[in-house]
Amino acid sequence: MTVVPGYIGNKLVDAFEELLWTWVQIPPPPPMNLLDFLFPKKCIGCERLGEYVCETCSVGMWEEEQLPGLTCLWAYEGLARKLISKAKYDGRYDYLKFLIYNFQFTNNSQFSNFQKFLKQKPTVVPVPLHKNRLRERGFNQAEIIAKVLASRHTLAYNGHLLYRVKDTGHQVGRTRSERLKALENSMKIVNCKLKIPQAVLLVDDVWTTGATMNECTKTLRAAGVKNIWKFVLAR
Ligand SMILES: [Zn+2]
Repeated sequence: MTVVPGYIGNKLVDAFEELLWTWVQIPPPPPMNLLDFLFPKKCIGCERLGEYVCETCSVGMWEEEQLPGLTCLWAYEGLARKLISKAKYDGRYDYLKFLIYNFQFTNNSQFSNFQKFLKQKPTVVPVPLHKNRLRERGFNQAEIIAKVLASRHTLAYNGHLLYRVKDTGHQVGRTRSERLKALENSMKIVNCKLKIPQAVLLVDDVWTTGATMNECTKTLRAAGVKNIWKFVLAR
């Protein structure tokens, strides 16, 4: 066999490429493993290593009573409250992810209507923050929850459908009628030429009076959204 110039070189390149290809095809280990190793997860209730909330501490954390058209995962007290406020003020998005992925919908018949609604493949829309509040806090908690929820249930996400046109300020300490007055006409649909989804899953972090979510619902309905279901992490 005559070795043409460059033949061995080409063979070497082929072999190298094959090796590289094999190496590339090996799936990289999930990044969380390294993070878990470097920063082991501890239960925020009892400090036991393993998860953010261990099995023992998670007893009674979920919300018992579901309201029609509103799905709420956790009771806004104890550890769930602690996780949500830490997420809000220390930027611990991983806590929000934990609160969504660790909830078992299947074990509870109260969620059957919600499951049915999900079959309509709704678009997940977060309750918007006014740009002043966004500047103050740096991120919109509802947006993160909506994105995680959309990825858990393989749904479309749209964070640009609703827009908050009015800065309602801090609602804490206001009476119900004062809150409602402040919220009037505070939301807008960003662009009416957009394709308006038939079904929307409206997402917020915590349900207090429901006034904000109701205002969003009103705006969405006026824009032509037929079916709306509300979702909050805690109530
Ligand atoms: Zn624990």
